[in-house]
Amino acid sequence: MTTVKAFGATSATDPLTPLSITRRAVGPRDVNIAIRYAGICHSDIHTLREEWGPLTFPQVVGHEIVGEVVEVGPEVTRHAVGDRVGVGCMVNSCRECEQCQAGNEHYCLNGNTQTYGSVDRDGSITQGGYSTHVVVDEDFVLTVPEALPYESAAPLLCAGITTYSPLRRWQAGPGTKVAVVGLGGLGHMAVKIAVAMGAEVTTISRTASKQEDALAFGATRHVATGEDGALESLRGSFDLIINTVSAPLDMDAYLAALAPEGSLINVGAPPQPLPVSVFSLIIGGRTFAGSNIGSIAETQEMLDFCAEHDISPETELISAEQINEAYERVLSSDVRYRFVIDTATL
Ligand SMILES: [Zn+2]
Ligand SMILES: [Zn+2]
Repeated sequence: MTTVKAFGATSATDPLTPLSITRRAVGPRDVNIAIRYAGICHSDIHTLREEWGPLTFPQVVGHEIVGEVVEVGPEVTRHAVGDRVGVGCMVNSCRECEQCQAGNEHYCLNGNTQTYGSVDRDGSITQGGYSTHVVVDEDFVLTVPEALPYESAAPLLCAGITTYSPLRRWQAGPGTKVAVVGLGGLGHMAVKIAVAMGAEVTTISRTASKQEDALAFGATRHVATGEDGALESLRGSFDLIINTVSAPLDMDAYLAALAPEGSLINVGAPPQPLPVSVFSLIIGGRTFAGSNIGSIAETQEMLDFCAEHDISPETELISAEQINEAYERVLSSDVRYRFVIDTATL
């Protein structure tokens, strides 16, 4: 075991502070990564504030991790010292269930091991990426292509795959009309990826304040729902809607914006139920579905796709001491579009 520097929480209510945590000794199939950057995801905040269930403190979060390999176990074949690598939302799974066997670790029937706040195989609680190092089984370590700058690769590990996966599964591409609801960390990635896939993209948010950005990301139109009749004017328009908003919305109004047999996919996760009239689904044969990250293979495919299409998230680089302030800004949607922590400042 080694002791490493980190930044984390000692309770659900106190600000985050510098901490020391231990990382396990590098096992035969493990990779030790010197973390360079870690993105801040809204899930980090929900988790630390125990909004998604009780935690064991101290807890370090962060599941958008990039860095370089500094040590590998004797049986590691996929990565070597010096490689540019990334770690996303999961660090292990059972490997034995039907879903793991099929390469769908994110659907592991026994529950995968999350990058933070999960019980690891040795019984310890996993600690995330706001830290200088992390030790991860090689099968859950992604290769970061040379074409992707480290700093902008970090948010791809959660925000990127969370939006790429449903766009792929529901076949966004030339000839399809896609709407992205909400233009935050997830939403802006959804726009860039859908545009690169060849879809015609409309962005939808409350105000017109991000219209210019949306068009710069490749959207052809921005609709502000705060304006009278805006949503009604979209009836029957879209083949696919990706909803990234984590607050309750009038789902029937958004379902009505789908063309017949269109699909609305929720990747935002409001804690409260979203009421839906079944008639919104029956009429027009529409689908309302959810999506959660993607498999390791699909995450690698997404990184390669972003490198090939020159897609980078918009990031604001911060030091460790700015993390608490950054949390407040995430909560008030005052970030364009993802905070990334420079772990050299830990
Ligand atoms: Zn996340
Ligand atoms: Zn499994």
